[in-house]
Amino acid sequence: MKDIATLFSNNRDWSKLLHEEDPDFFERLSLAQKPRFLWIGCSDSRVPAETLTGMEPGELFVHRNVTNLVIHTDLNCLSVVQYAVDVLEVKHIIICGHYGCGGIQAAINNSEIGLIDNWLLHIRDLWYKHSSLLGAKNPEKRVNILSEINVIEQVYNLGHSTIMRSAWRRGQNVVIHGWVYALHDGLLHDLQMTATSREILEQRYRQGISTLLYR
Ligand SMILES: [Zn+2]
Repeated sequence: MKDIATLFSNNRDWSKLLHEEDPDFFERLSLAQKPRFLWIGCSDSRVPAETLTGMEPGELFVHRNVTNLVIHTDLNCLSVVQYAVDVLEVKHIIICGHYGCGGIQAAINNSEIGLIDNWLLHIRDLWYKHSSLLGAKNPEKRVNILSEINVIEQVYNLGHSTIMRSAWRRGQNVVIHGWVYALHDGLLHDLQMTATSREILEQRYRQGISTLLYR
């Protein structure tokens, strides 16, 4: 069992290793960040954004919450997106869900956990919205299909945010992607939700949902 001292010990080793590989690394990084990617993912400890994409410090701007939601009244998430798009000028925004998501499962089960139940009502809403699609599927597959639906819906939400609408209107080159990560093999799957404008976003949304319908 690792204790809290292990974190400091690992940190010293990590810092020493990077310093040996590149003596100017930390000094250079401390001056500014210019990441090309914003990652919006689930808080799940098994989905570590930098590790699974092989990104170094300074390459990935990250926002994580339970079930990777982009809610139009969530000032935390929207502030991250606004800073990433308007100030850092990231080129790509990745919304990444994952199969076997405990938050999605809890929403399906209508579990009573506490405060988080309120947050998971956003997933519950999607469960009702897509009940005819989900009802036709094998119950064992529903959690993973709802994980995919959730990513599609969050890409749509993000594309309709005032931040993205303004960015696209002024011709800023920023692309939204929708991915799902598989815990059992560590691989990412592209849900083909890649959007570069609101018009394309509408097409991708319809295609994304109909693909799930007939799969
Ligand atoms: Zn999750």
